[in-house]
Amino acid sequence: MGTYVPKSGRGNTRDPRNGKGKGSDVISDVEDDEESEDVDFEETGSDGSDEDSEDETDIGDFIVEEEGLEDLMDEIHEKSFEDCLDGSSKMDKNYKNGKVYVEQEYGSIKLEPWLIFTDREAFLDVLKDYCIQEGFELSVEKADSRRYTAVCAIEGCDWRIHASKMVDKMSWAIKSLTGEHKQCGRLEVNPIVTTKWLVKKLLPEIEANLDVPVETLQNVTQKMFRIQVNKRLFYKVKVVAKEIIHGSFSESYALLPRYAEMIKETNPGSYALITWHNDGGNVDPRFKACFFSFGAQVRGFLKGCRPIIGIDGAHLSGYFKGILLSALGIDGNNEIFLLAYGVVDTESQESWTYFMRNLRALFQREGCNKDDCTFISDRMRGVDLAVHENFPKATRRCCSQHLYMNCKNGGWSGELFHKLFWIAANAYNPYVYNKAMEKITDFDPRATQYLDTCTEQWSRHQFEPEVCCDHNTTNFVESFNAVTKPYRDLPVLRLFEAIREWSM
Ligand SMILES: [Zn+2]
Repeated sequence: MGTYVPKSGRGNTRDPRNGKGKGSDVISDVEDDEESEDVDFEETGSDGSDEDSEDETDIGDFIVEEEGLEDLMDEIHEKSFEDCLDGSSKMDKNYKNGKVYVEQEYGSIKLEPWLIFTDREAFLDVLKDYCIQEGFELSVEKADSRRYTAVCAIEGCDWRIHASKMVDKMSWAIKSLTGEHKQCGRLEVNPIVTTKWLVKKLLPEIEANLDVPVETLQNVTQKMFRIQVNKRLFYKVKVVAKEIIHGSFSESYALLPRYAEMIKETNPGSYALITWHNDGGNVDPRFKACFFSFGAQVRGFLKGCRPIIGIDGAHLSGYFKGILLSALGIDGNNEIFLLAYGVVDTESQESWTYFMRNLRALFQREGCNKDDCTFISDRMRGVDLAVHENFPKATRRCCSQHLYMNCKNGGWSGELFHKLFWIAANAYNPYVYNKAMEKITDFDPRATQYLDTCTEQWSRHQFEPEVCCDHNTTNFVESFNAVTKPYRDLPVLRLFEAIREWSM
């Protein structure tokens, strides 16, 4: 329930719970079978003494004066809809005497009798905006597919709106609007504000900055609409808005096979594989993994890059989670070069085997039987086995930065250890390396023992000159992770498109 704050000069702090009627369930359909107070306009020839027949007898009040019409014509040079009416039908009369609702900016919405809306939904949308703008809650008296009556939720207030469907069985018109909010106060926490309403209003804000903080959205809502909304609701608003902007997460996975076909068709030589779980029976297949490499990527790597491949996994934070695996090279200009990427459900030996098997197959398809590449990565679970299974003669480097962090977690830290470790890691010859390791042994022999257990290369003096690359960290892979970061909480196709755009 909401809280009322008094309008300036008016001192009403009445609890809305004391209000009448059906409360916060405002603009929902409340179908009832009661005898209608509302007889359809075109059929009311006699005086049914109900609302619409009154309206019909009152139509004269709304006939636009000749003078006013001329003013209107000056403003609208094109022929307006009303000018096309020759008055031959009853509907013409309705439209001539009414006014078709023209979208108004929030804050300046004005309602009046005989305002005509394209349909019921359009009427309800505007009414909702109006209520939030004016800061009051509705109590619905009657709402079905033909008519709608509501009053102000505050007891004692005589504000009332009645609208119904017109003869064309599509348009809706406000038939009467009576009363005034005298001491209702302004509702700042309005229960008729929903996620859907907020999404509609905040979509441009979110589209402009997908990472917009919920606090910002809360402030914008407060400023633009003068309403208080709980911060938590904006998390949901962001999720729904992103789905509208980028399509839904499941839709994105469903479109993946077509995306793969499109890549292969439009980029000859590309490798695009989607793998599904086989659950058997009539169950729809579930996504398991995928692997992509554009023709230009694999050929560019084989022809123009140093024979070293950096591999890494990065978590996806969207609805289905998963891991983005990537393989990157370094070209002659020492720029990072994307070789292949894919998505798997979890980071495991099985996933890495899938990735490495496809990487090998990718090379073989290009006529390259290379099985002696150098791979550099963090010491991730399953990577080592997966690499050697598919590239039996591969050389492995492990990221020194990662190794250093492991040492730090093992309790070896401080300025001296840091200095010695990096002298060892960056040593181009065994002499410097051995000297540094001797000093590390003096510092703590267990640190040397730990570093000796590292089967991968981590000190530069171990690197083969043929690789033409002295990287002993995976920083170049990290920079690719920084590229994908803003897209890793979005549907998979949006992520892949961002990767494709970046790498081209
Ligand atoms: Zn009121």
